[in-house]
Amino acid sequence: MIAYLDPQQNQTPNPPSVAGDGTGTGTGTSNGTETEPSITTASSDFGGIIHAVPAAVIHPKSITDVASAIRLAGTRHLSVAARGNGHSISGQSLSDGGLVLNMRSLDAKVELVSLPDGKYCADVSGGALWEEVLEWCVKNYNMAPLSWTDYLGLTVGGTLSNGGVSGQAFRHGPQVANVVQMEVVTGDGECHVCSAADSSDLFYALLGGFGQFGIITRAHIPLQPAPRMVRWIRVVYDKFEEYTADAERLVTRTGPDAFDYVEGFAFVNSSDPVNGWPSVPFPSGPSFDAGLIPVGSGPVLYCLEVVVHYNHQRNDKVDEKVDDMLRPLNYIRGLEFIVDVSYVDFLSRVKHVEKEARANGSWESAHPWLNLFIASSDILDFDRHVFKHILKHGIGGPMLVYPMLRRKWDRRMSVALPESEIFYLVALLRFPRPYPEGPRIDEVLAQNHEIVNCCRSNGYDFKLYLPHYETESDWAEHFGDRWSRFVRRKADYDPMAILAPGQKIFSRAAPLRLL
Ligand code: FAD
Repeated sequence: MIAYLDPQQNQTPNPPSVAGDGTGTGTGTSNGTETEPSITTASSDFGGIIHAVPAAVIHPKSITDVASAIRLAGTRHLSVAARGNGHSISGQSLSDGGLVLNMRSLDAKVELVSLPDGKYCADVSGGALWEEVLEWCVKNYNMAPLSWTDYLGLTVGGTLSNGGVSGQAFRHGPQVANVVQMEVVTGDGECHVCSAADSSDLFYALLGGFGQFGIITRAHIPLQPAPRMVRWIRVVYDKFEEYTADAERLVTRTGPDAFDYVEGFAFVNSSDPVNGWPSVPFPSGPSFDAGLIPVGSGPVLYCLEVVVHYNHQRNDKVDEKVDDMLRPLNYIRGLEFIVDVSYVDFLSRVKHVEKEARANGSWESAHPWLNLFIASSDILDFDRHVFKHILKHGIGGPMLVYPMLRRKWDRRMSVALPESEIFYLVALLRFPRPYPEGPRIDEVLAQNHEIVNCCRSNGYDFKLYLPHYETESDWAEHFGDRWSRFVRRKADYDPMAILAPGQKIFSRAAPLRLL
C-alpha cells in the first residue's frame, strides 16, 4: 500500500510506505485511466466542477489494505472515498481532507467461477474497468456479462454503487441486477462476503448504495456466451408519441423477436454537426437525407437505436429477422441506418467518442451532466417542456432518452426509482468547449436546475440518477419512504459515517437520526 502524501496537510495518516513529491504528477495510461492518481488528480472528477483536496491517496493491493485504511481513518477522524475511475460528475468520488482509496490498484486477477446451475460468472476486482472485464472474458472463454454501460471506462465497484444502465437493461436488468456475490469492507473495517442468500441486507444495501455502506473489493458477474456480431440499427422519428410507443413496445416484447439492445436519443432538427442530423448516420454508411423529414416537423427529432446479436457467417436469417422486427415500427421510411460490427466493437463504441473528445479538449473540460429517470406517464409532457423548448438548440453532446422496466430492479436494492413500471433514462451528456469558446458553466448548471424544477413543479414521477444533493432533507425526499431503511443501513454498516463523504449524505461521526 503506497500513499502520495500532501505535505501541506497536517492530518496525514502514517501508511506503510510513502511515494511521490506532492507535485501532483500522476501516472497516465493509454486508456485514460491512471494506475496511481496523484493528490491533484484525486482532488477532482470527470465533472470537473467540484474540487476537494484529500490528505492522502492510498493504493491498496488487497482487501486487507482496504480494511487497514478504513480502520486507520476510524481512529484519526478521517473520511474515506473509494475512487473507481473518478468518473463521477459532482464530486462523489472525492474526500475533502480525508483518504482517497485508488481502487484501480487492487489485485486485478480475474477468475472464472462455475455456478451450481451449470452457468458461469467472472470473479473480478471492484476496481476493474468494464472494458478489462470484457476483454478477459471474450479472449479467454468467449463469454461476456449480460448488462453494460454505454462507456466501459468505468469500474465494477463504481457502477454497482450507482446502477449501471445501457440498452440491455430492459432485457437483463441494470448492472446492479447482474451480480451474484460481492466481497466488501464495511465502514467498521470488517470484511464480508455477501449475496442474495448470505448477508442479503448488506448485499442489497450496496447495490446503488452510493458507496455508503462498504467498499466493494470483488464481485461475481454472471456470464453468457458472447455473440460474434451485432446488427446495429438507427431509425428516425419526427413525432415523440410514435417514438415512445415503438420504444415501449420493443422493451416489453419478450422471446425470440426481442431486440438485444434498445436505446435512443433526441437530436436537433438542423445541420448542427454535434446535435443535428449528422449525429445520426454511421461513419461508413449513407448520410442523412434531410429532404425526407416531413414538412412541419418540430425543432427536435428522435432516433431509436436497436441491436440484434448473431453468430453465423451468412446474414440471410438475420436480414429476415431484422426486416420482420422493423416492419411494424412507425419511423420515417428512408431514414434508417444499418451497420454490422463485431460485438466487442459495438460495446466499445464510446471509446471512439472519447478519443475525439480528448483530441478536441472537451474530455478534459467541465461536464455539467444531468441524468434523470422519468415515468412513462410524464415523458410526453417532459418532451414538450424540455426537449422541444428548453433544449431545442441542443446541448453540445448526446441527449439520450430510452425506456426500461421497473420489474428488472429489485426493491431491496438501495437505488431510488420512479414508481411507474416503464420509466425513461434521460441523460444530458454535455461536452461544452471551455469558456469563452463554449458557454459559462454556471449558465449550464442553471439550465439543469430549470429542468429539474420543471419536473418538480409539474409533479412528475421522477428521480435523479447519479444524484447530487447538499441537504439531508433533499436526500430524504430522494429516497422517499425508503429513507429510514437507508439511514438504518448506514447505522448498521458505517456507524461513524466514514465512507463516501463526497456524496454529502451523512456527516462524519454526526449522530444518525430520522427526519
Ligand atoms: P467513481 O466515480 O470513482 O465513484 C463513484 C462513487 O462510487 C463514489 O461515491 C465512490 O466513492 C463510489 N465507489 C467507487 N468504487 C467503489 C467501490 N469499489 N466500492 C464502493 N464504492 C465505490 N452510467 C451508467 O449507468 N451508464 C452509462 O452508460 C454511463 N456512461 C458514462 C460515460 C461517461 C463518459 C461517464 C463519465 C460516466 C458514465 N456513467 C454511466 C456514470 C457512471 O456510472 C458513474 O460515473 C459512476 O460514478 C462510475 O464511475 P467510476 O467507476 O469512475 O466511479
